[in-house]
Amino acid sequence: MTTPSSVLVVGAGIAGLAAARKLAGEGYQVRVAERSEVIGGRLATRRLGTAVVDDGAQFFTVRHAELEEVAARWIARGVSREWCRGFRQPTDGHPRYVGSSGMADLAEDLATELDVVTSVRIDALSAGARGGWVARTDQGVTLDADAVLLTPPAPVTLGLLGKLASPEALGALRAISYAPTLGVLAVLDEPPAIPPPGGLQLDGDPISWIADNQAKGISPVPAVTVHIAPKASTQWWDLSADEALSAVLDAARPWIGLREPLVASLSRWTHAAPEVLHPQRYLVAVEGDQPVVCAGDAFGEPRVEGAYLSGLAAAGAVADRLGRPDSRPRPRS
Ligand SMILES: Cc1cc2nc3c(=O)[nH]c(=O)nc-3n(C[C@H](O)[C@H](O)[C@H](O)COP(=O)(O)OP(=O)(O)OC[C@H]3O[C@@H](n4cnc5c(N)ncnc54)[C@H](O)[C@@H]3O)c2cc1C
Repeated sequence: MTTPSSVLVVGAGIAGLAAARKLAGEGYQVRVAERSEVIGGRLATRRLGTAVVDDGAQFFTVRHAELEEVAARWIARGVSREWCRGFRQPTDGHPRYVGSSGMADLAEDLATELDVVTSVRIDALSAGARGGWVARTDQGVTLDADAVLLTPPAPVTLGLLGKLASPEALGALRAISYAPTLGVLAVLDEPPAIPPPGGLQLDGDPISWIADNQAKGISPVPAVTVHIAPKASTQWWDLSADEALSAVLDAARPWIGLREPLVASLSRWTHAAPEVLHPQRYLVAVEGDQPVVCAGDAFGEPRVEGAYLSGLAAAGAVADRLGRPDSRPRPRS
């Protein structure tokens, strides 16, 4: 009897889930470990009372055939729908898609039937005594795998790899950098003054994005998402939560009016958007027939689609190195 090679995927954002889905579909034994209580990473749909708000990614675009195929299936099954064809007049005509009840729907759908464990942070990675890899969790549990696919932000991945990776790979990971984003979610007692389709891309002084989640079709009550541009986010980063909330709400007054929100909450996205990216869709940190491969939106394109494609490409790189699931006997004790 042969046991399929096992792969540990670290991170249940869209990159990790796309990778896990592809590898599981090919017959590998795949486990996804996610440090948060919920899956999705930056596909983050939150509930504030009765309001539903997209906190991280607001929509996704499709430029490549691989995601086009999946997006068509999502739309046919009601997982996703088109929101609009642009936020400025005249529109550019390119569809902006959303998860039907929030962006996290995409992650939920990809995770169906996968072995995903949440509230499990991988804190260390080391070589196994009999080959493969041993990942240690924040609860002191160890997880074994023949191959590891890492999708956290590059600084976290660097910490996990320590000296395991080649100097070239470590250098490539160190070169990646991110811009932060401060965000505010606010539930209102009347609709904000945001024209159809309910989202505004602004010049970022300081607001870069404001959206009406009710007009978007995911919230039963008026609720806005406000994102602050990288420069102002950096300037305001060290403010207390109360100070940052009031600075963001003051900047949003032209759209939300002078009444105080019913509920407001602040988000700090430290690694919101890759600024310096790795040019390829994945990076092989440790070569060989038991590889460690890195993926995520910092590899290739800094958006939902880029993360998805990176996950797929990294899964292909893992499979190429492990060999087909049933092609070599790998008894594991
Ligand atoms: C505010 C904001 C707005 C955005 N707007 C858009 C948009 O409108 N359109 C668009 O296309 N893109 C947008 N993006 C970018 C988009 O969200 C990302 O490109 C994409 O979701 C990244 O997916 P990922 O899987 O690479 O990373 P992530 O979603 O960050 O997933 C990585 C996962 O790894 C987990 N993790 C980290 N460390 C560990 C560990 N040690 N152990 C276990 N798990 C770990 C994290 O919890 C996370 O779930 C936005 C991002 C932000 C923050």
